[in-house]
Amino acid sequence: MDTLTRFAEKKLTAIAKRNLRRALHPTERLPPIVAERDGRKLISFACNDYLGLSQHARVKQAAVQAIGRYGAGAGASRLVTGNNPLYGELEATLARIKGTEAALVFGSGYLANIGIIPTLIGKRDLIVGDELMHACMHAGARLSGAKTVLFDHNDVADCRARLAAHRAAHPKCLVMTEGVFSMDGDRAPVKALARLAEEFDAWLMTDDAHALGVIGGGRGSAFAEDEKIDVPLQMGTLSKAAGAYGGYLCASAPVIDFIANRARSLFYSTALPPAVLASATEALKMIEEDRDLVARPLAKARLFTERMGLIAAQSAIVPMIVGDPQKALIAAGALEDEGFLVIAIRPPTVPEGTSRLRFTFSAAHTDGDIERLAGALGRIGPRIGLRG
Ligand SMILES: *Cc1c(COP(=O)(O)O)cnc(C)c1O
Repeated sequence: MDTLTRFAEKKLTAIAKRNLRRALHPTERLPPIVAERDGRKLISFACNDYLGLSQHARVKQAAVQAIGRYGAGAGASRLVTGNNPLYGELEATLARIKGTEAALVFGSGYLANIGIIPTLIGKRDLIVGDELMHACMHAGARLSGAKTVLFDHNDVADCRARLAAHRAAHPKCLVMTEGVFSMDGDRAPVKALARLAEEFDAWLMTDDAHALGVIGGGRGSAFAEDEKIDVPLQMGTLSKAAGAYGGYLCASAPVIDFIANRARSLFYSTALPPAVLASATEALKMIEEDRDLVARPLAKARLFTERMGLIAAQSAIVPMIVGDPQKALIAAGALEDEGFLVIAIRPPTVPEGTSRLRFTFSAAHTDGDIERLAGALGRIGPRIGLRG
């Protein structure tokens, strides 16, 4: 066997031994919120399609029309010929929803973070981030070369202590958090962090991947309180509640213009397909218009936490910590036998010892779906020692 193949096989064996091997299962997603695997239709509590918009007739129709008019692929980067006029409408809609002067759409949320962060922050600067921030924020931080200090999850006092210790030694500072944490479903104390950032002349960036369409009347974590919170860098994705694809940043016009001039992940990657731009825009319009729709994911999640005797959900994401990765896999398998798709989340996505089931709720779930899920967990949970 050649050394490359032997290297890969050895690594895979080691991963499997720790119950951390992953597989890509062919999965067909069907309306309203079904995932078909190995010929079995499962009610999905594993999609980030919080509003069911990826399957909505209006959103699909927008994509079909865009393909008819512009074709399938974008043909080049935005700087060359890929900057389809649909970008203009999409960015204007995003800026309106987020209450900013301007917006910039990237190829994905991951590409947005690895583009934005190194454009604003360099080697001599400081990044202060929540310890549970997403992998792509870490990737952006690493690319920037800045000194990166993590604060205890959602702990404003610890964030303050880190800023007090390090801020003065660096010309610029970025504070980063997620509006809604992707694996825990809890919300960041955005208002307190915004105040802190201002006090230390740091720039706050929120990753609202799981907040758009769900929190703050659908407008995201900066709108979760009575008054709009001043967050100068509101980043997010169009791949979750917006049901399409692409990442974005909403900020002041000069900041957007500067990033559009410099972010390497924007130029050196092909523009999004026109169908994606059209469907994202249509979905955002529905998020803007339909107050009842955007209230539903949280209501569904709260029905679940109430039924399970857990603390009330803060978002559309509810984790049940199992601890051991194998237990998490067994629990997910037992739920699959009952007709539900729930994903066992294991390290390195979450810290060691905190493997979990991650449930995501969607406007497309019926209350009956949730009652049945809670019933199944009532039967399975005691066998496995599930806790919220
Ligand atoms: C999903 C996610 C991303 C990445 O967004 P994509 O558009 O899927 O690349 C970034 N940040 C967080 C917190 C996420 O959950």
